[in-house]
Amino acid sequence: MRPFAYARAGTADDAVAAAAQNPGAAYLAGGTNLVDLIKIDVARPGIVIDIGPLPLAAIDTLPDGSVRIGALAKMSDTADNAAVRAGAPAISMALNLSASAQLRNMASIGGNVLQRTRCVYFRDVTQPCNKRRPGSGCAAIGGDDRKMAILGANERCIAVNPSDFSVAMLLTDATIHLRGPNGERTTPFLGFHRLPDDPARDTNIGPGELITALSFMPTALTRNSTYLKVRDRASYEFALVSVAAALDVSNGLIRDARVALGGVAHAPWRARAAEAALVGKQATVATYLAAADAELRDAKRQRLNGFKIGLARNAMGRALMAVGGVA
Ligand code: SF4
Repeated sequence: MRPFAYARAGTADDAVAAAAQNPGAAYLAGGTNLVDLIKIDVARPGIVIDIGPLPLAAIDTLPDGSVRIGALAKMSDTADNAAVRAGAPAISMALNLSASAQLRNMASIGGNVLQRTRCVYFRDVTQPCNKRRPGSGCAAIGGDDRKMAILGANERCIAVNPSDFSVAMLLTDATIHLRGPNGERTTPFLGFHRLPDDPARDTNIGPGELITALSFMPTALTRNSTYLKVRDRASYEFALVSVAAALDVSNGLIRDARVALGGVAHAPWRARAAEAALVGKQATVATYLAAADAELRDAKRQRLNGFKIGLARNAMGRALMAVGGVA
């Protein structure tokens, strides 16, 4: 492991100022991703700025009814929070299906959103990887691509985003609150994660910026939501495919829909084609599967992951049935 400097931030402004002075800095919260990556030499920060002491762990319901989750809230505390569970059950379910109990007790919500891909070649510094070393190539293409992307990939990177929480957050019109060298800003959650036009950049976070909170407004739609995760084993495993789904159904007619997919793309994937195919239709299995087909029309298989297309179709059908029933 390479030596690095360590600083403990007293305030968010201190943390941001320290990062601004050290371009190679990394913020440390729960450490469940960063420390791993430092140990295997993938992350090489010159300085680690410990933001653990900052008062950013509260989960509050604000006067306008929105739920604000502090960036340092633990995954487990967020999953158990009554306002989160009632406002968007899919978020709570996604968190409880993530990682292990020990990790959920350590990992922060902000870190979860920023966690890096689990592509095995990204984590092996002897292999070419455009995400770790831009321009070096992509060892996953033609290699072990069984868990790789079926949507939105390109010849530069076929990795998938590992966050369950981020998929469920796409059911809401969530906002990310950031503090950086130029002050505070907010940005929509949708669009924060990037497709691999520049694989080294997973998100649109700016240099030295710190996520301070995430907020969302519960609605009738988000209250009727679910999260389905399909993986190789029943716990402590990333998704092959996951589906977050929310439906508003009245008298058997779908009035509104929101669907997102995980494990299929470089970013959590908002399934807009599926949503368009659902609204105004009868809540039937045929409707659900037609919506899945609409979303997956442009899906592309790699060498070993063609099974994920059928898996995604069936998972979408199951998740939609769970929230919409069958008319
Ligand atoms: Fe790197 Fe992406 Fe290729 Fe994996 S898929 S080796 S992360 S460029």
